[in-house]
Amino acid sequence: MERRDFHKLVVGSALGGCIARTESGVAPVRRGQRVRELESVLRGVRSREGAGFPVRRPFPVAGVPQFDPFVLLDEMGPVDWPPGEAKGAPDHPHRGFETVTYVLRGAVEHRDSFGGRGLLGPGDVQWMTAGSGLVHSEMPPQSLVDAGGPMHGFQLWVNLPARQKWTRPRYQELSSRHIARDQTSDGRSTVRVIAGRALGARGTTETHTPISYHHWTLAPGADVRFDVPEEQRVALSVFGGSLRIGDGSATADDGTFAVLGQGESVRMRCDASRSSPAEVLLLAGAPIGEPIARWGPFVMNTDAEIQQAVDDYRAGRMGTIPRSG
Ligand code: MN
Repeated sequence: MERRDFHKLVVGSALGGCIARTESGVAPVRRGQRVRELESVLRGVRSREGAGFPVRRPFPVAGVPQFDPFVLLDEMGPVDWPPGEAKGAPDHPHRGFETVTYVLRGAVEHRDSFGGRGLLGPGDVQWMTAGSGLVHSEMPPQSLVDAGGPMHGFQLWVNLPARQKWTRPRYQELSSRHIARDQTSDGRSTVRVIAGRALGARGTTETHTPISYHHWTLAPGADVRFDVPEEQRVALSVFGGSLRIGDGSATADDGTFAVLGQGESVRMRCDASRSSPAEVLLLAGAPIGEPIARWGPFVMNTDAEIQQAVDDYRAGRMGTIPRSG
């Protein structure tokens, strides 16, 4: 598999948006025709988050601060918790961005400093705009702690441009059965559209900047091609099986975060010889291109804004989670 200088690519995008690539020798193609080919590859780093749950994290890691406009991607698990062991993320603040939680197996119970509370089960999505700031917790429900069981999901952090970092916190909850989905006519490629659109499915999530977030399942023999707006940079996070990308022979295996180059359409295939389907998250967005200052759960533009966030949190200005009894 081809590897290029991902560090340079991501840092460059953080500073200046899309990188212009020269393509000498490549004939110009008409709009809507050019397939995005594999450009660079990143492998997720295994780590622990919150109170100690396992994650696989392609970014941020040393040298890769973001994939603008996304500032973090964590695959949570997969893990099979023994009874009494399940862990989550107790009370903590956020400011300046959005967290998107997608549960595949198990459950996450959330509470926040505005009195909000809810439970996410398999297939459910919570798109939370932290904006000006809040405190929340993301924990396994007591039943999962007591009995043990599987947990698998994703958390994506979507950055907000400076002018929207102080927006009011809000949730967009998408229960599994309300997530837009479609499949190709041969039934081999299915998509759940959390944001953006694919095939005949259009996501209902309102985003602050142009974002596409899809979950694709490609059975052996699948070959699907669809458009993603050219202004959006595209990456594919493979979390099961193996995938072919573009018109060439480039492949991406389980655990790969594959950044695609410029173009209009995305083509993904799963070889007919495979014994299992490929599972893929597609992340795409228009780069924000602003400076980033970050510390833990805060993502702002300047160090002074980070200090202010820390001060506001310590002074209780992001609230506390109400506890009864
Ligand atoms: Mn959180």
